[in-house]
Amino acid sequence: MQARDILSLTPAGLYCPLADVHIDPLRPVPRALITHGHSDHARAGHGAVLATAETLAIMAARYGESFCGSAQAVRYGERVTLGPVGVTFLPAGHVLGSAQILLEAGGLRVVVSGDYKRAGDPTCPPFEPVRCDVFITEATFGLPVFRHPDAGGEIDKLLRSLALFPERAHLLGAYPLGKAQRLVALMRQRGYDRPVYLHGAMERLMQLYEAFGIPLGDLRRVEPGSRESLAGAVVLCPPGALQDLWARRFPDPVTAFASGWMRVRARARQRGVELPLVVSDHAGWDELCSTIRETGASEVWVTHGAEEALVHWCTREGLAARPLHMLGYGDDEAEAEAVAETAGAEPAA
Ligand SMILES: [Zn+2]
Ligand SMILES: [Zn+2]
Repeated sequence: MQARDILSLTPAGLYCPLADVHIDPLRPVPRALITHGHSDHARAGHGAVLATAETLAIMAARYGESFCGSAQAVRYGERVTLGPVGVTFLPAGHVLGSAQILLEAGGLRVVVSGDYKRAGDPTCPPFEPVRCDVFITEATFGLPVFRHPDAGGEIDKLLRSLALFPERAHLLGAYPLGKAQRLVALMRQRGYDRPVYLHGAMERLMQLYEAFGIPLGDLRRVEPGSRESLAGAVVLCPPGALQDLWARRFPDPVTAFASGWMRVRARARQRGVELPLVVSDHAGWDELCSTIRETGASEVWVTHGAEEALVHWCTREGLAARPLHMLGYGDDEAEAEAVAETAGAEPAA
């Protein structure tokens, strides 16, 4: 048994020939395992889909109930057998329902981590390191420059700005799946109990998180004509909305944006972001390296992101490593655009 018997790269994405199933396929396939609900990983149109109940619910909210031929929910830690392959979903700490997928066959263990982070997140269970022979990782922030600060400290910057500028609305751009809920949960943890206002495109996934038992406090939709009255309020919106007509007419808005990319000052400037918050739902450089070590894997495949730097690091560590150059898995920016389209973003009313 070799790793490639368990997993190989095909035009539709990672494929397990022994179980005849794809993982996070890029195009419709008969059978798919889905790591998490972000639209570059969870696409509509597959036959049978196996994923966590949360991920299935996110896909249904995005694409409608008939997003696949048949759906089966799996719990974290539950082992499912597909032919000769044992399949186990384990927490990835990325967004609600996100999972790493462990494939076991012939004594070999392969882990597809999907997207993941190691920093704490009150909206999903923490990443569980899994011992394996082959570890497949992303590298969205796979450069040593990306060392994410403590997210709570970034939230404190927002809360300080609210205290300093009570006459200004604080428009906070964030991805509608995962990031937005984490920001609200972190604000609540720090005692912020005032209403948080939502762009229409944010509402549905907020409700979904609450339905899965993640309390987010007092959330209110921004009603047409009410924007003038939101001085001193926090208003969550998709990143794209910060620059469009929708953002006008708030009282002297402070434009904030929460993303791992805010580490790059030029990105913040390009977007006209006054208050950049470095909050990432992806592993930073140190987390990528320490996670690879913890898995004990002797072989590492890097799906997307800054692949070469991480592959280089692995090689120096004495690990066999290869970049997969997978196109179709976006970074956060592309993700945000896709989500705004599919989440029924309201026009600039
Ligand atoms: Zn993701
Ligand atoms: Zn991704």
